[in-house]
Amino acid sequence: MTEPVKVVLATRNTHKLGELQAILAAVAARPGGPDLSRIALVGANEFPDLPDVVESGLTFAANALLKAVDAAERTGLPAIADDSGICVDVLNGMPGIFSARWGGKHGADAANLDLLLAQVGDIADEHRGAQFVCAAALALPDGTQIVREGTVRGRLLRERRGEGGFGYDPVFLPDGFDRTTAELTAAEKNSISHRGRAFEALAADLAALV
Ligand code: IMP
Repeated sequence: MTEPVKVVLATRNTHKLGELQAILAAVAARPGGPDLSRIALVGANEFPDLPDVVESGLTFAANALLKAVDAAERTGLPAIADDSGICVDVLNGMPGIFSARWGGKHGADAANLDLLLAQVGDIADEHRGAQFVCAAALALPDGTQIVREGTVRGRLLRERRGEGGFGYDPVFLPDGFDRTTAELTAAEKNSISHRGRAFEALAADLAALV
């Protein structure tokens, strides 16, 4: 049996590591899905010297690549990273790359969501369209770089619904559903989500390149 190939997931977020492992396992289990059996995903936590990368890019793709390339260069292993957020039509695509720090403090999910709801409070239901966007990047130590994007469209509700997910999930109603992404099961969310779609595309690259 051949040794598994370690691939670094450039995030310290254990929730995200678990979510991505579930997404990749589901993609690989589909009939005709990519063969990922040789790949062992390891979190950035296994590399305590990896610094947090400043997300100075102007797009989701640029930020995902910054994180993946840095991790590949420092560890000498293939690395994957993602960057994601919510883009609201009436706000010309904002919060966008600022989604995690929209209220001023990075990762303050409840405050970010409250601010967004207040900003679009006067906007009629038919104009509350939005989409989650995810860029998934793969960087190899030889300099190879690949980015895949996934989106899921929907609209913003006025009140939170559901306990699952994170971030803006409790107010995001995906098109074709009568439950928010916080009310979907993890498997349901992964099967339609921006992150699920971006990593489904990247899984084929992983299988081919790693
Ligand atoms: P990051 O990709 O970890 O930098 O996340 C960016 C931010 O976008 C998160 O902090 C959330 O606020 C938001 N976001 C990204 N993906 C999702 C999602 O699947 N559900 C809800 N919010 C999300």
